[in-house]
Amino acid sequence: MPYTEQRVLSVRKWSDKTFSFTTTRPHNFEFENGEFVTIGLRPEGKLIARAYSIVSTNDTDHLEFLSIHVPDGPLTQRLAQIQQGDGVWVNSKATGSLTLKYLQPGRNLYLLSTGTGLAPFVCLIRDPDVYKTYERVVLVHTVRTAHELAYKTEIEALTSERLFYVPTVTRDNFPTSARGSDLFCSGELFNMLGLPTADPADDRVMLCGNPNMNRQMTDYLKQHGWVMTNHSGVGNFTVEKAFVLHND
Ligand SMILES: Cc1cc2nc3c(=O)[nH]c(=O)nc-3n(C[C@H](O)[C@H](O)[C@H](O)COP(=O)(O)OP(=O)(O)OC[C@H]3O[C@@H](n4cnc5c(N)ncnc54)[C@H](O)[C@@H]3O)c2cc1C
Repeated sequence: MPYTEQRVLSVRKWSDKTFSFTTTRPHNFEFENGEFVTIGLRPEGKLIARAYSIVSTNDTDHLEFLSIHVPDGPLTQRLAQIQQGDGVWVNSKATGSLTLKYLQPGRNLYLLSTGTGLAPFVCLIRDPDVYKTYERVVLVHTVRTAHELAYKTEIEALTSERLFYVPTVTRDNFPTSARGSDLFCSGELFNMLGLPTADPADDRVMLCGNPNMNRQMTDYLKQHGWVMTNHSGVGNFTVEKAFVLHND
């Protein structure tokens, strides 16, 4: 039986479109930091399940997720109503390509996210092994409105000379309104942070965002000498979809 029923331990609302929740962790459930797992609800007995990145690190006894609320979404119209004590079904197997084993070690690690694509990166910046593998970690999170900057306070508390955080908001008044991908491609990101321009020989990139961001960044990186991790080998950048468009 791949799914087991877990209990919701807490729920936190970030905006009218996003929320986080924690659940109990299935017995013997193992995962690599940065992976996703399929979770779901059984509203009328029938399972409705979707992929979710795991926000909590693998040394924690609970699981944590960051979710979108799609008003007519089969799962999230219901998931957005969950409360402490409710049941959530969690698959026994996690997977994904945003883990340390899918990137070569290097100098600076760039984590570029949009929206709920932040989720696997919150997990990774909490993982001490990331700082053993890279000199610096740069987390870029682009959202439309400032309320969607989930985990902002917690991330700010973790920032140091090893961890840089660049929140950008495209539709609200905010100090940085450019998309993270544009900051990276124009080189402005490196000027802002006083870092050398990202170089495929030394630096590494992980992408987790909407289909446009993933496509723009993947095209840009490939055109500039970066090699994507795939079945034929571990490269210097790796990509995961934050969600799938129905017509994608
Ligand atoms: C590898 C992977 C990891 C994922 N991790 C997460 C995660 O950590 N958190 C999360 O909320 N979702 C995540 N998703 C998306 C998730 O699987 C569902 O699509 C989402 O929960 C909505 O489910 P739904 O049934 O309500 O609507 P769906 O029918 O699945 O989606 C309806 C439409 O809503 C939009 N949409 C769906 N998900 C999102 C999103 N996250 N952000 C913006 N628009 C969206 C798309 O236009 C989609 O076509 C992930 C998807 C993939 C492929």
